[in-house]
Amino acid sequence: MAVVGAGFSGIGAAIRLRREGFRDLLVLEKASQLGGTWRDNTYPGCACDVPSSLYSYSFTPSPGWSRTFAGQREIHDYLRATADRYGVGAVLRCGVAVLRARWDRSAGRWLLETTDGEYTATALVLATGPWHEPRRPDVPGLEEFPGPVFHTAEWDHSVDLAGRRVAVIGSGASAVQVVPAVQARAAAVHLFQRTAQWVLPKPDLPVPAALNWCLSHAPGVQRAMRAGQYSLQECFGYAFRHPRLIGPVQAAARAHLRLAVRDKELRRTLTPHYRLGCKRLLTSSTFYPALTLPHVRLHPTAVSAVRGRHLIGADGTETEADVVITATGFRIGELPLARSTHGSDGRTLHETWAKDGPEAYLGTSVSGFPNLFLLLGPNLLGGSTSAISVLEAQLAYVSAALSHLRRRGLTSMDVRPAVQDEHNAAVQEALRSTVYNSGGCSSYYIGPTGRNTFCWPWSTGRLVRRLNRFDPAAYTYRAPSAPAPRAPADHSRPTDEEGITP
Ligand SMILES: Cc1cc2nc3c(=O)[nH]c(=O)nc-3n(C[C@H](O)[C@H](O)[C@H](O)COP(=O)(O)OP(=O)(O)OC[C@H]3O[C@@H](n4cnc5c(N)ncnc54)[C@H](O)[C@@H]3O)c2cc1C
Repeated sequence: MAVVGAGFSGIGAAIRLRREGFRDLLVLEKASQLGGTWRDNTYPGCACDVPSSLYSYSFTPSPGWSRTFAGQREIHDYLRATADRYGVGAVLRCGVAVLRARWDRSAGRWLLETTDGEYTATALVLATGPWHEPRRPDVPGLEEFPGPVFHTAEWDHSVDLAGRRVAVIGSGASAVQVVPAVQARAAAVHLFQRTAQWVLPKPDLPVPAALNWCLSHAPGVQRAMRAGQYSLQECFGYAFRHPRLIGPVQAAARAHLRLAVRDKELRRTLTPHYRLGCKRLLTSSTFYPALTLPHVRLHPTAVSAVRGRHLIGADGTETEADVVITATGFRIGELPLARSTHGSDGRTLHETWAKDGPEAYLGTSVSGFPNLFLLLGPNLLGGSTSAISVLEAQLAYVSAALSHLRRRGLTSMDVRPAVQDEHNAAVQEALRSTVYNSGGCSSYYIGPTGRNTFCWPWSTGRLVRRLNRFDPAAYTYRAPSAPAPRAPADHSRPTDEEGITP
């Protein structure tokens, strides 16, 4: 089987599946080394915003995070060390980009076209990450800007920001980390903010050596800390699902702003006009103070054009800069391989999702795409969850599904369309009352079709329980000897292609 991508998801998949006895496995990674998000995002200030004790694999707690919210390098080192510890190197092929994947109905296999030739795989795990492809702002003239222009995920370390006027476009999760970090070197920082964000303080503290010693010698304490963090994150999640409870959190964010920013006008432009949680909730204790510095200026406007060295705001203002940093996030909702992964009827995932946007059964299986498993797929995450908690639950599901195939001697499994539809109807119904859908903002949770294709509408606990219970009846199966059906599958009604019962 093949796993595409070697970030947290791909490495986790290799570890879990090998442990379950799936030894014929390869991880294909297009970059020259593993790490995903934590390899690519090397911008100053880059760190996780879920506490490290939770933002790590439960089966390999780090013996010693230096801070409560570890920085990029430390997380990347942790991933590399974990991969080494579990021997992932033996199945990892770096520098191999998957270009196209096609389900071969007659062979009951995935055919992969890669930069390293063709591969076949009995099952395909797409671990290509939701936060992978940088979203570039569509600003006329930006390409002709006469100085360096780069995205936070593609930081150009050859550019010295000392004494330069730096423009930052975007005010989301990366911007709140990068602005406080670059202001220390730059002569001036201009932050272009289209929409104000809710920001809570971030309790980012050094972890004392004594505590690390205690954690590494008393795994119970480590587990208790993780459980505590998990519960705290879940409290936020509960409020996001019951927006009437958001008031106190919003009041805390307002107080944070009031304490950090004395200037009334600046405070006004930093105050969001939608409910907290509608967009991803940000945390930082250094962002607001950075904005009060004399050489840092907040421009409450989008950038509508660039002329020479001048950034033209949608409000008509002109600002001169030497370097432009685009902190505009990622093309979330567009799975990197969606346009080139072809299912049993030849259609791509992108074509299958054209009408309503990405959807899957439990964010993992897509009807018409046998033996395909998406990691961190549609409608699994939320504004407060650690992606790793979700991922680990998915890995339990994928390994249970593949073990079922192996035990029954079957070739392939395909989720029943009706099961997928019913699941997604319930998800969409439950999302309606959440702050993600009703909070009065536009966010990456909502796709171009107007559907929320990102969030899980219930608790993470419910997701974990659901994914821990593989239900064979949700799928149809094919046995090795069965001939390939000629007609394309009719996805409008449940089928049991070869009459095989679960
Ligand atoms: C700056 C930043 C901070 C974040 N902080 C948090 C946090 O605090 N908490 C949290 O829960 N989440 C956070 N996230 C989200 C984070 O992306 C996920 O938590 C997690 O790292 C995703 O891991 P992944 O393996 O699924 O994807 P990725 O880490 O994106 O890895 C995907 C891999 O797939 C490879 N790939 C893609 N296409 C192909 C192809 N065609 N062929 C071969 N290889 C391919 C890529 O090169 C990459 O290595 C953050 C994201 C960013 C950008």
